[in-house]
Amino acid sequence: MNVIGNLTFKKISRVSPSQFHSMKNCAYKSLLAEAFEKKPLLPVSPNAYLGTVLHKMLELISRGEIKNETEFNSKFDNEILLMENDLKEKGYDFFVPLQMNVRDYGMKKIQLKKHLRSATASPREQTGINFISEKWLESKDKLVGGRMDLIIEEADETEIIDFKTGAITEDVFDDNGETYLEVKNEYQEQLKLYAYLYFDCNGKFPTQLSLVDLAKQKFDVEFTEEECKAVFEEAKSLLTETNKSIDTATFKANPSEDNCKFCLYRPACKFYLQFLTTENYFNDVCGLVKDVVKYQNGNVSVFVEKGNNKISVTGFATDKFEYFNSNRNKQINLFNLRKEATEFVYSATKTTKIYE
Ligand code: SF4
Repeated sequence: MNVIGNLTFKKISRVSPSQFHSMKNCAYKSLLAEAFEKKPLLPVSPNAYLGTVLHKMLELISRGEIKNETEFNSKFDNEILLMENDLKEKGYDFFVPLQMNVRDYGMKKIQLKKHLRSATASPREQTGINFISEKWLESKDKLVGGRMDLIIEEADETEIIDFKTGAITEDVFDDNGETYLEVKNEYQEQLKLYAYLYFDCNGKFPTQLSLVDLAKQKFDVEFTEEECKAVFEEAKSLLTETNKSIDTATFKANPSEDNCKFCLYRPACKFYLQFLTTENYFNDVCGLVKDVVKYQNGNVSVFVEKGNNKISVTGFATDKFEYFNSNRNKQINLFNLRKEATEFVYSATKTTKIYE
């Protein structure tokens, strides 16, 4: 079983624009990520692994390293294979083949190819236009730094483009309660940070900030120089405060459904585990092992006491019987369960992890 040993927190040397929003929502999560050397304690969704491959392909297309469909297909297959081998090494064989485990695999591949056509048609050879992909930029004080997907520099104009493989916009309510679509705030802040980094390195701000999705839709991010500077200062002071919290051991955690649902460091988070003792809307369960049953078909169910609630978790494999049986009256934490229709009944999934 998995055990979280003593935690050794480390100072975070730099905040990246892509990490800033998450750090703002829960600084403790960033400290846990650093303590575990950014190795998640739980598997992420298979869609996220495909997203990593799609983003890599977008980078290669924007760098001009994939020019036609033959190169695209060969590179795509290769990147998928590399990712699947990595998943197997991590013990996540159940996500392989990715094609069978993610939504809209074929559709996403087709959408990605549209970028290929646009890249081959783009005026890369035009004089006076500089396409810079995967450019690392950091502030002079080195406290904020990140890699920009694509910078397009012309005589009087500079555009910074960030590629996203998921949704870029979200529903927002106006004063009358009507909804409208807006670029997610976290992406707006990310791009403003990139703009400030560009300024810090080049002495001038970009003229346009854009996000491009898989379907090749482009979304502009409006900005002012003051806004970019404000986000930059906010990021630096957040970094300083977060690092200070290690010395004072006054950690700023912010447990909530939105923050914790997808946090991959939940097993090591004492604030979340405390939160979980009273909240039931997560797909995780903590409590004392009270009983375990092995059925004729080999399936194992464990019965856990959480406060005054008795929780049953079904669907474990036979080999878990001995473990649960020898851990009666001990505290266990079960992550990534499926909540069944009946209250306090859960079932194990292929991504379920047990931590002591
Ligand atoms: S589990 Fe929640 S409170 Fe804990 S680090 Fe993650 S986001 Fe923060």
